Amino acid sequence: MTQETIAAISTAWGEAGIAIVRLSGTNARDMADSVLSCTVPLRETRPRVLRNGFLLDECGVAVDHVLAVWFAAPHSYTGEDVAEIHTHGGTLVAQLCIRRLLSRGARLSEPGEFTKRAFLNGRIDLTQAEAVLGIIRSRSEEALRAAARTLRGELSTFAAGIRQEIVGLLAQVEAGLDFPEDDVPPLSPEELDATVTAIRQSLEDLSDRCSIGLILREGVRVAIVGKPNVGKSSLLNALLRESRAIVTAIPGTTRDLIEEVLTYRGIPIRLVDTAGICTPGDEVEAIGVAKARDALRDADLRILVLDGSAPLTETDAEIIDGIRDVPHLVARNKTDLPSVVTEEDIAELLPGSPVFSISASCETGLEALKDAIVAETAGAGTLDAGLNATARQVGEIRSALDSLSRAEEAIEAGLTPDVAASCLADALRSLDRLLGIANDDAVLDRVFRDFCIGK
Ligand code: GDP
Repeated sequence: MTQETIAAISTAWGEAGIAIVRLSGTNARDMADSVLSCTVPLRETRPRVLRNGFLLDECGVAVDHVLAVWFAAPHSYTGEDVAEIHTHGGTLVAQLCIRRLLSRGARLSEPGEFTKRAFLNGRIDLTQAEAVLGIIRSRSEEALRAAARTLRGELSTFAAGIRQEIVGLLAQVEAGLDFPEDDVPPLSPEELDATVTAIRQSLEDLSDRCSIGLILREGVRVAIVGKPNVGKSSLLNALLRESRAIVTAIPGTTRDLIEEVLTYRGIPIRLVDTAGICTPGDEVEAIGVAKARDALRDADLRILVLDGSAPLTETDAEIIDGIRDVPHLVARNKTDLPSVVTEEDIAELLPGSPVFSISASCETGLEALKDAIVAETAGAGTLDAGLNATARQVGEIRSALDSLSRAEEAIEAGLTPDVAASCLADALRSLDRLLGIANDDAVLDRVFRDFCIGK
């Protein structure tokens, strides 16, 4: 089968030592040859051997001294014939190279199309394709390691194992439904229940590991709340000052609110100071207040700052009521001053909430606070077992978990086995989408549209 040949600059834009132009498809090698002058052309060169030569412009004049290599299908990144031309860096020469290749019949690749072809040709599965983007986007070593674990296949192996168990169980249940008179005794409800529970527990482990990976990849949003003058800005500044690795280059970081990102134990923590929540004075302020409220609502966690050196007020009580039912922890600030509000006082108002005594001015208690942010948001999984996962993947795993829980409920309620079978089939469909077995175009489009061109 012939594959249309696609081309793209695979390296970053701008001045650099080299730039790599990549081609994939049936004519990749010949197209590369057609724009180069090498002493030995690629078509007479073994795969994976670098040749040096010249890149020619439209008039046949050499414009750069380049290296070129080709990889024979199926032993290439995409599983197709692939050729690479390594030009000198800089925007112009790689652009010229692309222009020449397009005039020879190549098509400019779409974002992620090389990786999509690798997936469609069976070189990698969908979780691995998404891990490639995880590697590219990693902002910490921990995130990088999680992405590498997924790229090596840990997520897919684990998920495929669970999928296989569901397939086996479903076959047994369906055999009982279709051929009840057969000699094979059907599974008893107890056996069925125990098996579904065991599968659900394995999937929960996977879910924990993927949730960690998602947090390493995307970070967590933490809103700092409290009435004026309790020390919110001071806390934000103290946390940032104390952390040596401040990451600010996160796409979508809004500058309208005071939002800063620090990395702690590999997790990008986006801190938003919601100081703006007050009665707006004018239209512009109203927009700010609305944004602050959104940030408060959308946060993964809220830190309620209370002034430990002054009696609590009506405003504190209102804010406490507002966060009671959403994930939060409490920072009792200004503990360098004589204490008026104790941890016990706070425990009475917010039973069960984690309370930390800190001083933003003296920078004490911050380490425990940051550990608590990680513990509250990362859940049960441990950081070094994290698997790179996207929100899509975590969503599929959670929906498979829901289906398995529904299967357990159906069995425990004594419903006929066909109900459990239909829940198991739902779980299977979620795992198929997770692994890309379903080959659903909408899923693929969603996965690959985030990639850069040339990957
Ligand atoms: P915000 O309005 O909640 O953001 O509060 P600020 O961070 O602006 O702090 C209000 C005042 O409290 C400032 O004068 C700070 O210097 C002071 N402050 C903040 N944290 C502490 C602390 O831990 N100890 C003491 N003694 N003063 C603090």
